[in-house]
Amino acid sequence: MSTFDVAIIGSGPGGYVAALRCAQLGLNTALIEKYPTLGGTCLNVGCIPSKALLDSSEHFFNAKHNFATHGIKVDNVEADITQMIARKEEVITQTCNGIKFLMDKNKVTVYQGVGSFVDKTTIAIKDEKGNSTNITAKNTIIATGSKPNFFPGMEPDKKRIITSTEALKMTEIPKRMIVIGGGVIGLELGSVYARLGTEVDVVEFAPTILPTMDLSLGKELTKILKKEGFKFHLEHKVQKVENTGKGVKLTALNKKNEEVTLEADYCLVAVGRKAYTEGLGLENIGLTANNRGQIDVNDHLQTSVPNIYAIGDVVRGAMLAHKAEEEGVVVAEQLAGQKPHINYNLIPGVVYTWPEIASVGKTEEELKAAGVEYKAGSFPMKALGRARASMDITGFVKVLADAKTDEVLGVHMIAARAADMIMEAVTAMEFRASAEDISRICHAHPTFSEAIKEAALAATDNRALHI
Ligand code: FAD
Repeated sequence: MSTFDVAIIGSGPGGYVAALRCAQLGLNTALIEKYPTLGGTCLNVGCIPSKALLDSSEHFFNAKHNFATHGIKVDNVEADITQMIARKEEVITQTCNGIKFLMDKNKVTVYQGVGSFVDKTTIAIKDEKGNSTNITAKNTIIATGSKPNFFPGMEPDKKRIITSTEALKMTEIPKRMIVIGGGVIGLELGSVYARLGTEVDVVEFAPTILPTMDLSLGKELTKILKKEGFKFHLEHKVQKVENTGKGVKLTALNKKNEEVTLEADYCLVAVGRKAYTEGLGLENIGLTANNRGQIDVNDHLQTSVPNIYAIGDVVRGAMLAHKAEEEGVVVAEQLAGQKPHINYNLIPGVVYTWPEIASVGKTEEELKAAGVEYKAGSFPMKALGRARASMDITGFVKVLADAKTDEVLGVHMIAARAADMIMEAVTAMEFRASAEDISRICHAHPTFSEAIKEAALAATDNRALHI
């Protein structure tokens, strides 16, 4: 039986990054993945394929609606969904192969099969053919991730009532699509199809889309997406979705408790994800999932069994690839005797709609609820030369700073390239910068990032220059 210093179950961004860091630190490492390709949700059916389709659909949308204004004439622009999906598949293949290459380069032993605890140091790995191999490991990291969630009445049949996984491999562009859930995944995948011409109806239980982010962002995005043809049904509680054979019929109760029905070709259920621990054999090591299906861990990501750790979507906190990666590194470094740390307050959140949305730190709602006195400075993208040059004039950047110390407490933006721009705010906040610090940094002109400087100026005595 092979013996390892560390075994990692699950090869998503949490698991494969943990494996790389363990190997770099000289630990003899095994990585166990039940699917034939490495990379988990993120690379196979999450972050990367969704961005591939978002990019393709954005090119199509621009060719159809914006090229003419730029003086580019193209006739008869058509969307070829088959080619879009094929390109996306190629991106996935390249990326997943890249992970396999990294595992080989770092001498991580990869096992394909379902990993299941026999006891606290033995894991059985069962492949598709039913063959079983046992390995032993001094320490194990559970990185089994998550699966799409749903509530009673909206069970996906994966044909007409679909999850994000099916939405990433459609064979036709639907005429109409209902999206249940106005969160990140629903709005990103809804955007893909809306840009290709699908009429998209978003049904959301909360009074706003993106209800967990700074509320100003969802408010602005609602206005922008409505112009693109999105319809929003807020404060609607879904009762039932049925596959009618040719399409779907959704019944919901609105806030007056009146029954509302919607019909479409497909219904995408995007109401979050739930931690995944099936088949892990937790009972064999005395662990049980909590009432949210997650594995409980302490501040060191250690379970109640001292040599077993858990990271990523399967534990508490944001279900994000970069959070999973950081946790993978932290556990690896702890196992090698180091004392790493994660600043959970500074995990950026991004929504890849257009314009993009990005956020870090506290929202205005959180600061109000905590009774923190703060200053807010906003700057509209339309006041930037760079934004006008590229016609990306929608959105704003908002900087929130402590009223007394001027320390930046949160930065929220809806703007072209916000996904990349947010890192200036994350870096500044990691070094506990004040709004004044950001406003005194020379920003290249013309760039979108000038909006961050201007918003910081606005937060410090209302000194924004270009408005
Ligand atoms: P996962 O990536 O879920 O990987 C877990 C792996 O464990 C899987 O490969 C699974 O097969 C394997 N596994 C499970 N049980 C076993 C077992 N018993 N034995 C062996 N293997 C097992 N996050 C972002 O940060 N940015 C984004 O833009 C983004 N976009 C997304 C878009 C979509 C459509 C979706 C669905 C998700 C998106 N996410 C995004 C979320 C991101 O994918 C997850 O947060 C991330 O993948 C979590 O990583 P993980 O390592 O915890 O688990």
